[in-house]
Amino acid sequence: MLSGRHATIGSVSFFVLLGLLLIGGIELSEVQVLASLVWSVLGSVFPDLDSKSSSVRKTARKAVLLVGLSVAVVNYWDLRIFLVSTAATAVVFAAMGIPKHRGFLHSLPAALLFSLFASAVSSALTGTSIPGLFAFLGYFSHLAADRKI
Ligand SMILES: [Zn+2]
Repeated sequence: MLSGRHATIGSVSFFVLLGLLLIGGIELSEVQVLASLVWSVLGSVFPDLDSKSSSVRKTARKAVLLVGLSVAVVNYWDLRIFLVSTAATAVVFAAMGIPKHRGFLHSLPAALLFSLFASAVSSALTGTSIPGLFAFLGYFSHLAADRKI
């Protein structure tokens, strides 16, 4: 399935969960709603990071290369930081070429890890871990659409 369709399904799941939370009396700030939408869509496209033809993977590889090399260039004066960031970029960039399509990234444990990460980041940035629920639901919607659950 194309990333656009997964993102659409993730967006729909965002609105369903947001509606359920509102019915349940749980209110979120605008920033928390935005974070929830972002995590929901990210969760819905993230599993295809293991697909060679996915736009998510191509974008992620470019982002890793850009961020990693930027850190190296900005810290060119500190040889240790330069070498570590260059090596880390090379390792992550190479590792992104290895995973088997519809392997671990298309599993419930990966969905749980992703949502825990989203919860931690959201808690630190927005003051609530609720966007982690949206991340899980987005990820779950991807697995369901791919019939991996
Ligand atoms: Zn998939």
